[in-house]
Amino acid sequence: MREMHGHCLCGAVRIDVAEFRHDVSACHCDLCRRWTGAAMWGFEAPADAVTVTGEVASYRSSPFATRGFCPVCGTHLWIRDDGGPYDLVPGIFEEARDLPLVREVYADRAFACAPLAGGHTRVTKDTYERSHPFVNMEKADDQA
Ligand SMILES: [Zn+2]
Ligand SMILES: [Zn+2]
Repeated sequence: MREMHGHCLCGAVRIDVAEFRHDVSACHCDLCRRWTGAAMWGFEAPADAVTVTGEVASYRSSPFATRGFCPVCGTHLWIRDDGGPYDLVPGIFEEARDLPLVREVYADRAFACAPLAGGHTRVTKDTYERSHPFVNMEKADDQA
């Protein structure tokens, strides 16, 4: 698997990825849950390895990260910390079909409808936020 070519539901956005981590993480935090409907899956790719064609809308979901989506069909494309790598959703790349799930964060916050089976690493909300103290800021705004 050398590179991947993906597109959104309507095809207005095309993404070519030349280099990426060959594994997937899942997130059940409040932001990801609302954005996706249950849980968010992502795999990492360095910014200079990602080529995006077409117009992308973005939403700043926290002081340090934005989420990209297609303004036509609404397909979710990525989460990205400012200046960091892309966290791309696997579902828009046919070639990502065989990437294994290696990590689940906010595992203790998963909805009953979204349990993830397997021997991957599970990180709780408390553990994650202990090593990512900035997350607490965004959580404070999401107590609705
Ligand atoms: Zn689209
Ligand atoms: Zn999340």
